[in-house]
Order: sequence, then structure tokens, then C-alpha cells
Amino acid sequence: MTPLGPPFSVPVAATPLPQPQRLLGNDVLAAELGLDAAAWPRAEMTERLAGNQPWPGQLAQASVYAGHQFGSYTRQLGDGRALLIARLDTPAGPAELQLKGAGPTPFARGLDGRAVLRSSIREYLASEAMHALGVPTTRALALIGSSLLVQRERAETAAVLCRVAPSFLRFGHFEYWARAGDVADDLTGGAPHPLGVLADHVIARHFAHLADIADVHERRTAWLTEVIERQARLMAMWQTLGFCHGVLNTDNCSILGLTLDYGPYGFMERFRSHHVCNHSDTEGRYRYEAQPAIGAWNCARLLDACVGLLDPRPDAATERAQAIQPAYQRAYNATVLTRWRAKLGLQEAREADADLVLQLLTLMQRSRCDFTQTWRALADNAPAELRRRFAEPAAFDAWHRLWQQRLAAEGVAEPVWRARLRAANPRVVLRNHLAQQAIEAAEHGELGELQALLRALQRPFDADAAEARFARPAPPEQAPLEISCSS
Ligand code: AMP
Ligand code: MG
Repeated sequence: MTPLGPPFSVPVAATPLPQPQRLLGNDVLAAELGLDAAAWPRAEMTERLAGNQPWPGQLAQASVYAGHQFGSYTRQLGDGRALLIARLDTPAGPAELQLKGAGPTPFARGLDGRAVLRSSIREYLASEAMHALGVPTTRALALIGSSLLVQRERAETAAVLCRVAPSFLRFGHFEYWARAGDVADDLTGGAPHPLGVLADHVIARHFAHLADIADVHERRTAWLTEVIERQARLMAMWQTLGFCHGVLNTDNCSILGLTLDYGPYGFMERFRSHHVCNHSDTEGRYRYEAQPAIGAWNCARLLDACVGLLDPRPDAATERAQAIQPAYQRAYNATVLTRWRAKLGLQEAREADADLVLQLLTLMQRSRCDFTQTWRALADNAPAELRRRFAEPAAFDAWHRLWQQRLAAEGVAEPVWRARLRAANPRVVLRNHLAQQAIEAAEHGELGELQALLRALQRPFDADAAEARFARPAPPEQAPLEISCSS
């Protein structure tokens, strides 16, 4: 039994894509993956990336997983429209190539297995934007357009996105296999349990630095602790960038701590702690301020699934799992505060720093400030200009004085803290209206806007890398776009 094949995955042939056309290709990533530079631009590669030709020497597969969706457990999900087409060993480590939208699999649950151009562009842009922002994420290798139309709320053009990650395994994979027979067999000399096989495979392939831990229980404990810490750090990164995922279900949580499955995500514009980016999330379960707690909840579901791997004695296993869970809050607190401090140009830790951040966020919320622009303005604007952004200038002045005192206490010169701020506060993030403009142009065969936006997103911290329009919020007269799960 190997996680590379049954029972974890089944072979599935991609459904041919009519008239495939490469709309975007990531040359830098292709080179990093060691893809043959001569073959990369050829039409034959486009056929492969469309799912029209198999990857040489590889078998396309879809895997089964489960997941807690909006809090309720769904016993069987799986790669309904994603096909793993290649597993590569690259100079940078393992890499999997996955086609999203290359036709239905046995896990499609009656859906068409396709993805629309609109959502594929959104995923491409967001994954490359997040990468440039330094956030762990799946990557985009290529976007293949087609003449195929698929029915959503309206008829839309289909596309195939080729995305890349060291592994696409999700918390949901572990949840699925945890419910397949008695996990304890794995540790009591019975047949190896698929859950243990999966975990040990992930540890060996992706957490090789833990391989030295001889005791299997210790090793798996260290692994789960690290998974949970990665998830916590990821949430801290999202929070400090104003990124909302929108569908933070356990099946969308990567076992490697990557941002995964970009759907109705959004980078917040006006700061509202209760902002909900997914129009379908009517209860606001995945609102901005809830993401860190949801991350912890998802980690608890992963621990529930994996507890049986930690010790053959149920009580001892539970005790181990309970000892792991606090790692989340520790890692989250440490990372989030370090990142907020960096956004204020601070390097040393002081007791009152969390308050200083909270006060600014409160002022921003009351003044309906644009999140990204306001943080960046701390770097770029003179104080008088800065205070004009706030509806309560006196309150802002008081905050500004505290902040300046705090900077002075670190003894850094103004050019130094301004440079620090510019390195921590992006000028450009992916705003929905910009993505939408690029999508509408691309739907009419015009790719210039998409390419320009992508270039801007690839250098988010640079002062003049991108045109000013990519750094501005949506015009006030433009109604906010409603982004939902349908894609
Ligand atoms: P997502 O919202 O993309 O994370 O998808 C949630 C689940 O629904 C996953 O199991 C997907 O594979 C599946 N899914 C979503 N859209 C489709 C589709 N058009 N065809 C087949 N499966 C889909
Ligand atoms: Mg998903």
C-alpha cells in the first residue's frame, strides 16, 4: 500500500479540452521545477497542461478526502475536478502538478469537473500574489484557456489551471482515513492502517528533518505539532495582510501549511474586523476576525482524526493530542505580534505593543480606512497627510505620538524605520475590482491587463514597480463585487 496509488487515489484520465491556448505561463516557476526549457514553450506542453496528453511516465490520479465544511462533517469529498498529473523530484524538493478543471473524477458528485476562466484567473493571480508577499501557498504554473463553455449562473468559458505544491494533501485526507477501520491496529501489530501509512509517508517525504526521531509516537507527535504551528503562522500572515480565505473548511487546509483552494477569497479593502468575503457565508463563520479561531478549530479536527496514531493506549494518545493543541495559540501569538510590530517598523518586543496595534486598527475601522493603503501610508506619507485619512484627527494624533515615542525608544533613524515599513506593508495587493477588470478583458481575448496586474502583484513592496492604479481601492461609486463559491 503506497499513498501514491490505491486506496488513496484512483487513476483517472483527463477529459480533453477543446482548442487549448496558453494564456499565462510561469517561466520562473517552470525553471525552478527543472522543466525542460526547450519543451516548456512548445504546443505539446500546452496539450499536457490542458490534460490532452499525459505527462510522460506518469499516471493521472484523483484522491479521496473528507472534510468539515462550515462546521459539518462531509464523509466523502475528494478531487472532484483536480487531477494529479505528475509527481516530480526537483532540485527544490518534491513537487506535484495538479490540473484543476480537467474533467470529472469519481469524486465529482455529479458536477462537471470543470473550472471557469474567471475563477482560474482569480486562483492564478492570488497564488502568485501570496507567494510574492512571502506567504506559503500553492503556486500557479500555467493557465490554459479553451473554447469550451460551461454552465454556471451564466454560460462561462472554461479553463484549466495547472497548480503546483510539494503536496496537495489536506487535513481532510486524514479525516477520511481516520474513519476507515480501527486506527489502533496500526500501532498494535495488526495490518498497517491507511492513516498511519499516510502520516508516515508525509513525514518521510515532507518533514524529513523529523526522520531522526526514532520513536514513532514521538515522531508523529512532533509532526502534528509542526503542522499545527504552520497553520497558526499562516493565519497570522493572513490577518496581518487583511487576507480572507472565504471557505476555511478542513478540506481546504493544507497539511503543509500552504494557502490552498482560492475561491471567494478577498484582500480586505475598508478595514472591518467582521468583514465576510464569501457572499455564500451568510452566518459569517469565516469572517476576518474569526479566521485565527477557525484555524485552531480545524487543527483540533486534525488532532481528533490523528489521535489514534499517537499511542496504542487510548488515554495516553488523548493526553498527547491534548498536549499538542496549545502549540497553535503559542505559534499564532508569537507570529502575529512579530508581524504587526514589523508593520509598525518595530523590532523589539514591548508589553504595550499589542495595544498600539489594536488602537490603530480601531481607528482604522471607525474611519473606514483602506487596510493596505493605510498601513503603507505609515511608510510613505507625511504626518499631516496621514491624519487626513482618519475621521478623528485628535485620536489619530494621540496614537501617532505614542507610535513615534515607541519608535524613538528603539533609537532608529527615520529613513530606517520608513524602509522597514516599506518592507512589511505591501503597496499592491490583489483587489477584487482589479481582478475583475483583468478577467473581463481576458474573456474578450485581451490579455494585456491580466499580464500587467500579474507583474504588479509580483513586486508588491516596491515603491514604483506598478502603476498607481494597482495600488488604489475600488472607486467608491463601484458597487462591491459579490464573490461566492460558485466557480
Ligand atoms: P472547492 O469549493 O473548489 O474547494 O470544492 C469543494 C469540493 O467540490 C471539492 O471536492 C471539489 O473537487 C468539488 N467540486 C467543486 N466544483 C466542482 C466541479 N465543477 N466539478 C467537480 N467537482 C467539483
Ligand atoms: Mg476545496
